[in-house]
Amino acid sequence: MKLSSGFWQTYKEVPADAEIPSHQLMIRAGLIHKMGSGLYSYLPFGYRSIRKIEQIIREELDKAGCHEILMSMVTPGELWQESGRWDAMGDQMLKVKDKGGRDLCLSPTNEEAVTDIFRKTIRSYKNLPVTVYQINTKFRDELRPRFGLMRGREFTMKDAYSFHADKQSLDEVYDRLFKAYEAIFTRAGLEFSAVEADGGAMADSDQKTHEFQVIADTGEDEIIYCSKTGYAANIEKAQTKRANLNLDTSTSELKEVSTPSMGTIEDVCAFLKVPKEQSLKSLVYKSVVGDEVETILVLLLGDDTLNELKLTAYLKCDELKPATDNELMSDGFIKGFIGPYNLDAKARVIFDSQVGLEASYTVGANKVDMHFKGLSPKRDVQDFETADLRTAVKGDLTIDGEGVVDIRRGIEVGHIFQLGDKYTKAMNATILDNNGKTMFPLMGCYGIGVTRVVAAAVEQHHDEKGIVWPMSLAPYHVYFAEITKSPENKELANSLYSELVEAGIEVVFDDRKAGPGFKFKDADLLGLPIQLVFGERDFKKDGMLEIRLRKTGESFKVLPGEVVEKIKSLIEGNK
Ligand code: ATP
Ligand code: MG
Repeated sequence: MKLSSGFWQTYKEVPADAEIPSHQLMIRAGLIHKMGSGLYSYLPFGYRSIRKIEQIIREELDKAGCHEILMSMVTPGELWQESGRWDAMGDQMLKVKDKGGRDLCLSPTNEEAVTDIFRKTIRSYKNLPVTVYQINTKFRDELRPRFGLMRGREFTMKDAYSFHADKQSLDEVYDRLFKAYEAIFTRAGLEFSAVEADGGAMADSDQKTHEFQVIADTGEDEIIYCSKTGYAANIEKAQTKRANLNLDTSTSELKEVSTPSMGTIEDVCAFLKVPKEQSLKSLVYKSVVGDEVETILVLLLGDDTLNELKLTAYLKCDELKPATDNELMSDGFIKGFIGPYNLDAKARVIFDSQVGLEASYTVGANKVDMHFKGLSPKRDVQDFETADLRTAVKGDLTIDGEGVVDIRRGIEVGHIFQLGDKYTKAMNATILDNNGKTMFPLMGCYGIGVTRVVAAAVEQHHDEKGIVWPMSLAPYHVYFAEITKSPENKELANSLYSELVEAGIEVVFDDRKAGPGFKFKDADLLGLPIQLVFGERDFKKDGMLEIRLRKTGESFKVLPGEVVEKIKSLIEGNK
C-alpha cells in the first residue's frame, strides 16, 4: 500500500470524548471514524486489524469443528415474543416496525434466531452435537456507550451456538470452545485470563460460564484472582472468605441498648465500641418473580457489602430492588434500626455465609433508636437461610483457605455460557432422542467482541508515541519510509517496495512528499511492528538501509539485497 495514494489521516489532538489510550490512539492513528454516539466506521488500517482477528477466529473455530453461517441482522419480533425476551431485553434492544406494522429488531444477540433455524433443520439426536457461528454486526442501545470500539452501540461480534442431546456432550463442546478461545487470544498476542462469570438468574449451578478478560488497568470489570491457587473470577461472582475474622464467641445475652439517632453501622459501632465485623448490617430488598413480590431481609457483617448479582442469582428472581423508604414504612420496618429479632414485618431472612451463626452481634432491634447487643443467629432467629452474598475484596482467602486473593481490572473480550434448554423449551424446538422420545436439546453459546478485541489489543500494547501492534493483529507488518531526493534512489526505493510486495510481505510504503520527522511520527503512531527506513544521506555513506523494531526501539543496518530475507525472518520470529 502506497501512502501517496492512500486514504489516511493522522491527528495530533486527542478527541474530547476519548478517555482511555486505545480510544485516543485509534482516532489519532486514523483507524476509526466516529459517526455518532457508539457508532464507528472502520477506516482502512482499522478494518484490516479487525479482519485479522476475524481470520484467527475463523481458523480456530473451524479447527474446533464449528460451521460458519450468517444470520440476518434484523430479526422478527415474534421470535423474541416466543422466548419471552421481547420485553425482558429492555431498551438495549432497538425495535422498529416495518411498513406492514410488524415488529422487528436490530439483533443484540441471536439465540432466538439460531433456535428458529435449528428447529426447522434438525430432527434427531443423530445430527447432534452441532455448533454454528457467525461474525456479524450487533446493535445494543447501551446506557453509556464509551471508550470507542470498547463499548459501542453497533459492534461486530462472533457468536457461536451449540446444540446437544445430553449434558456430557455440552460439557465436551464447551471445553473444546474454551480451548479454542485460549488459542485465539494467545494468537492475538493478548495477556488474558479466563475467569468464572456470573450466570445470571436463570442459570443452574451446574451450568458453567466463563469470561475471557484482557488484563488492563482501564478495564471496566474487576477480577478476583489468586496467583497461588489459580482461582480467578469476575467480582460479580467471586466466592471468597474473610481473612482474620475476629468473631465474638462469648455467649452473651441478648440485650437492648439505646442508640439515639444512630441509624448507620459507623455511628452505632463507634458509640458501642464494637468492631464492625461484630455487627450486622440489615438490608431490605423487594424480589420480583413473575407477578409475585417478596420482601427479603439480608444480613451481612457490618463492614461487608452486598453483591446484588449474587442475591439475584440465589433468589432466581426476575428483578431485585432495594425497598424504598415508603415500602419500609408500610411493611413495618424502622429504617436505621432493622434486625432479624422481634421483627413484625413479614420477610424472608438470609444471612451471608460469613456471618458466624453461633457468634454474637450488634444489630437493629426493630424499635426506634434501639439496637441489640449479643444477638446470636442460631439461638435467636427462628427461620433463616444462609447464602454467599457478600462482595469479595482484596485480601480475602480463597474458599479452600489456601491462598490470598487480589483484584485486577479486565476487559471482557469473550464470554462462553451453558444455556441448558432455556431457549429450546421456550421456542418448542424438539428432537427425537435415542429412544425415539421427544426432547428439548441443550444449548451452549459463545461470544467474542471482535471489534472490542482490537481496542483491547491497543489498550494493552501502546507507549507514549503510539500503538505497538502485536504482529498478528497489525494492519500491516512493515512501515517503509523513504527519505530520498535523487531520481535513482527514488527508483531503488520503489523497486525495493515492489520486491517486498512480491515476497508476500504486508508493507505500507510511505512515499509521501514529507520530511523524516513527519514520517517517523506517523510510523510510531500507527505502530506497525517493523519500520524500514531508506535515508538517502546515510545510504550515500554506507549503502545501507535501517530496520527498527517498534516495540523495543532496537535498530540495525541492512544492505538492499538483504532487506526481504531479514524482514521475513523478523516477521516469523515475532509472530
Ligand atoms: P458487557 O458486560 O461488557 O456489557 P456483555 O456481558 O453484555 O458485555 P455478552 O452478551 O457476553 O456481553 O456479549 C459477548 C461479547 O460481546 C462480550 O464478551 C464483549 O466482548 C462483546 N460486547 C458486548 N457488548 C459490547 C459493546 N457494547 N461493544 C463492543 N463489544 C461488546
Ligand atoms: Mg458477558
